Amino acid sequence: MTLSETQPATGTAGDVVLEARDLTKHFPVRRHLRAAFSGPRLAVHAVDDVTLTLRRGRVTALVGESGSGKSTVARLLAQLYPRTGGDILLHGGSTTVRRGRRFRAYSGQVQMIFQDPFASLNPVHTVRYHLTRALKIHQRAGRSSAELEEALRDLLRRVQLTPPERYVDKFPHELSGGQRQRVAIARALAADPEALLADEPVSMLDVSIRLGVLNLLRDLKERMHLAILYITHDIASARYFADDTQVMYAGRIVEGGDSESVTQNPAHPYTRLLIASAPDPDRIEGGEGGDPDRAGEDAGEPANLIHPPSGCRFHPRCPHAMDICRAELPPRFDVSPPGHWAACWLYGTEEGVRA
Ligand code: SF4
Repeated sequence: MTLSETQPATGTAGDVVLEARDLTKHFPVRRHLRAAFSGPRLAVHAVDDVTLTLRRGRVTALVGESGSGKSTVARLLAQLYPRTGGDILLHGGSTTVRRGRRFRAYSGQVQMIFQDPFASLNPVHTVRYHLTRALKIHQRAGRSSAELEEALRDLLRRVQLTPPERYVDKFPHELSGGQRQRVAIARALAADPEALLADEPVSMLDVSIRLGVLNLLRDLKERMHLAILYITHDIASARYFADDTQVMYAGRIVEGGDSESVTQNPAHPYTRLLIASAPDPDRIEGGEGGDPDRAGEDAGEPANLIHPPSGCRFHPRCPHAMDICRAELPPRFDVSPPGHWAACWLYGTEEGVRA
């Protein structure tokens, strides 16, 4: 059986593949920078208490402005960083891996696609080298060279780089940005993963080819029942591409639910601000609606993550801030429809409901 005919791994759509529970990452502030701040032990609170679930056959978008911690979440889930707290569960089992065979086994199931396809491929090696190496690392040993060659060509077909012979011996500089990102996706697929962590996979690509790469990922999700985490600052593309959307602000997830509800009926004031400052959603199809890379830029100053604001971290920017917002961290409150929630006191206090 060729790779392009490969059946999805056992399990049905909707099964939980990967979970983050109360995931926390604090980066210590380097000693030479501490002089600028008071206190000996300072840390950047990059991620705090993040809980999210990736399910087979679904795309979950993690949306937020630069510095919100969303890429750190992806790297924590890929176990590229040690976590400060919380847990990561693969198929319900707690996992902590740092290196060696256990890390290789984990990364065979959880693969990452990076933002920059120019940097993620070695410029002195061909497509054949990158993909063959990944196949040898992650797949069964003892393949004949003919089987390896067929697997390599199947990978290229899977990412729609056809005919494969046109691309297989090219160097990265001979490919367009979109083609390079497709090679990076093919390399991730060589591991036959169950989860893909895609960190801004189209933000460095030309606007006209972004839609094609997103459509490819959606096609792979449907055919291989992959669980995909889609990191983006572009909330309009989350609506288009993701089944579920989680919104992150200053290291915390502040709203979540199905993408239609979160993007069309946003509950959290930060999500509303993000949508209001986003350009025209037609831009991912190459329209003239504005520059998606500037989405969210007009939403005000991000929070200081060394000394995060007390209570709700959004309160210094929030037009609805109440006393309780400055004092207490809001828990998740259900909003309609079922499954849609917001961490905002507007939905948990009489004062807020009246506001
Ligand atoms: Fe605004 Fe308060 Fe809601 Fe935070 S909890 S978003 S400050 S209303």
